[in-house]
Amino acid sequence: MQMFERLILEDADKDLFKSVRALKDSEWSTDFTEIVSLRRRLLILQKWRCAYCQNPIQADENGHRELDHILPKGASPWNSPAKRVSNQFDDRRHTNGYPNFRFEPRNLVIACKVCNNNKGTFDALKDRRRSIVRYPSAARVLWVSPHEHSYSDHVRLNTSCWTYTELTDEGKYLIETCKLSDINNLTELCKLRASALMARADGFPHEVRTLANSISTKTQSIEASVDVLIEKYPGLDRTEANDLLKITANSMKSIDLAELEKANRVLRAATLRLGGGT
Ligand SMILES: [Zn+2]
Repeated sequence: MQMFERLILEDADKDLFKSVRALKDSEWSTDFTEIVSLRRRLLILQKWRCAYCQNPIQADENGHRELDHILPKGASPWNSPAKRVSNQFDDRRHTNGYPNFRFEPRNLVIACKVCNNNKGTFDALKDRRRSIVRYPSAARVLWVSPHEHSYSDHVRLNTSCWTYTELTDEGKYLIETCKLSDINNLTELCKLRASALMARADGFPHEVRTLANSISTKTQSIEASVDVLIEKYPGLDRTEANDLLKITANSMKSIDLAELEKANRVLRAATLRLGGGT
């Protein structure tokens, strides 16, 4: 599975963007057909990944993906007049919002629920002391702008253990705001991903194979997969779950038939012991 770098538009996207901008006098709603089309298109352009943490978006459904306004569309509820024009990092959740950009496609990206919640009303405009009329270029925004920046220029993401390292100030602000260096948050992200995968699989062997596949394609951590597996199947201990996932994931990358056979044997034995079908 490919990672998401930046939004690269095609000619047809310009017409879609135009139709979204034409809604500018309407109240915000995700029900407009133009917004639905934009959301679907962004999912494809983002390779079905969250623009901020790169976690795979499992489904185009509520709870899995959210259409995020990079600059918040509305005011924060606890809006202090002094703080809403302050450029201090800690004051940036106080904002008047940017209702003029609620239908600006460059202000819209797909994010996962966890990142969207962490970001909240964070206002990333570099200089908030002056009001703006036109949508700002990436140079005037504090963090990685998926419409203009390449993600890997700003954040180094190690997909083996899902750790994020800032390479630039923009990367630093993204990591801090979405809490991508907060271990509790990362664990939550991983477990959400693993639970979503489990929910879409049918029965123990399929669940193991689905999780193992995402481990072998580096879209999931083995630790989170073990966590959700033993949570659902208390008869499985941590070591056994870890070995099972490792062997199955390795067999998916291997062309060695013996590896495949070993993986099938181990999975069959665990399935029988847990009383499930194959
Ligand atoms: Zn995310």
